[in-house]
Amino acid sequence: MKITLGGISKPHSSKTMKTGDWGTEYPVVDEEKCTACKTCEYLCPDACIVVVEKEDEKKVAVPDYEYCKGCGVCFSVCPVDAIKMELKDIYKLEVC
Ligand code: SF4
Ligand code: SF4
Repeated sequence: MKITLGGISKPHSSKTMKTGDWGTEYPVVDEEKCTACKTCEYLCPDACIVVVEKEDEKKVAVPDYEYCKGCGVCFSVCPVDAIKMELKDIYKLEVC
């Protein structure tokens, strides 16, 4: 029997492996606060938040939720607090 220690995935599999459902939280960008500095884009360990230009020509950071693991690095490094982490609905407890 062959066991892969540490759960290492096969090479070149990151694009097909949708990791967006791994995390319990997800980042939400406040477009008014975002200065498009790209700090989050440079430091995201999964390269899944990028600064894009919108139709009104304003540039903002946009997370790709199909791959975002909810690690919170972008939230931690944003110099203007434009990102907040939200708990996914499935992890919210309903109090009766
Ligand atoms: S929470 Fe982590 S994985 Fe998701 S966009 Fe931010 S830095 Fe990237
Ligand atoms: S680090 Fe903050 S201000 Fe800079 S691009 Fe990302 S969200 Fe925008």
